[in-house]
Amino acid sequence: MSKSCILFCNCGGGVITPEKLQQIKSSLDAFDADLYQLDDFCGIVLGRKDFIRAIDRQYERKIMVACYPRAIKNLLAQNDLELSGLEVLNFRELSVADIESKLRNDYSFTEGKAAETLIESGLDVPAWYPVIDQPLCIDCGKCFKFCLFGVYTFGDKQLKVVNPLACKNNCPACGRNCPTSAIIFPRLKEGGVLAGAEPGTEVKSKGLAADINMISTLNQRSALRRNIFRAGLVEQAEAERRKALEELKNSNKD
Ligand code: SF4
Ligand code: SF4
Repeated sequence: MSKSCILFCNCGGGVITPEKLQQIKSSLDAFDADLYQLDDFCGIVLGRKDFIRAIDRQYERKIMVACYPRAIKNLLAQNDLELSGLEVLNFRELSVADIESKLRNDYSFTEGKAAETLIESGLDVPAWYPVIDQPLCIDCGKCFKFCLFGVYTFGDKQLKVVNPLACKNNCPACGRNCPTSAIIFPRLKEGGVLAGAEPGTEVKSKGLAADINMISTLNQRSALRRNIFRAGLVEQAEAERRKALEELKNSNKD
């Protein structure tokens, strides 16, 4: 088993600038490392499970340069995949210099010429779909009821993403309705919890599903603020759903 490799998700997906993407590429190229350039990690975990499993067997440690670690971890889990010894360097938040310095100092990569392999998802379009952070999901079924496109099932009151590619591009609507911030859209440009950042002070586990009530009991003012905020999110979600429906109608006309 080889020691380490670098996996770089090239999707960028608009979540970092094309210039930054290019700078990271050039910088990774100058490390003496096995470097896997992934065209779209969200798609690769759907269509190239063989590749992920081979990498898992081949390397002890995998350093991935991609988006939020929470998104990456849950993308793998949702697709029944594992990458043991995985460390994620978040290109949304780290500068190119930070990434370089971590690779050199924390993971002991040295200068050289990378041995590059390009891995493609094989999908026609960039993959956009909801990724569920399972420990946060309370199986309330709200997202299932909200989505009109058959992305989810809710048999035995258990939520599953069964048809990810039916999700409408750039529609994160169900995620805005999730009471526990359990839904992630890794490609969401605006970033934040819905894109995979750590929820921080928001609801942290299934056991805290009742926290909304608890907050309103203990601190009515902050609960009120939260509800006002939620109301805005629900309106936004409704608008996004209408837009997705409109786009679907238009594409059926073509
Ligand atoms: S984002 Fe929109 S299309 Fe995708 S699962 Fe949620 S509601 Fe359905
Ligand atoms: S809305 Fe959120 S908590 Fe409810 S089932 Fe969907 S992902 Fe889980």
